[in-house]
Amino acid sequence: MEEYRHLNIKLTPQRIAILDYLKGNKSHPSAEDIFKAVKKEFPTMSFATVYNTLEALKNKGNVQELKIDSSKKRYDPDCSTHHHLICTKCKSIVDIFNDFKLNLSEDLTEGFDLIGNSIEFFGVCHDCK
Ligand code: ZN
Ligand code: MN
Repeated sequence: MEEYRHLNIKLTPQRIAILDYLKGNKSHPSAEDIFKAVKKEFPTMSFATVYNTLEALKNKGNVQELKIDSSKKRYDPDCSTHHHLICTKCKSIVDIFNDFKLNLSEDLTEGFDLIGNSIEFFGVCHDCK
């Protein structure tokens, strides 16, 4: 419980179970995936609890919502700058840590100050080939 106090969200045993599931999780789970996993420990937990917890974490910048999977939102507890590669068959998502050094010339940015980028790559994974 102590380790999650800095998140500044209301902590309940169910929320802690959700946070435990997300901690170090590299699978980019959907809300449904999280619900199914945590429900084993808390059979009475509602889907709304998962959804509301994810919204609270997202609003505090402690989880990022990914839209790379067109069928459902996916969540990533790693908010550091990185990119994603998705398998178009099984929808598995892997992290790409690389600084692509993209440069946009001024005529493309229309006066914006750029603060970052996030690139989505698509492919077919090793298991699906
Ligand atoms: Zn695949
Ligand atoms: Mn990621």
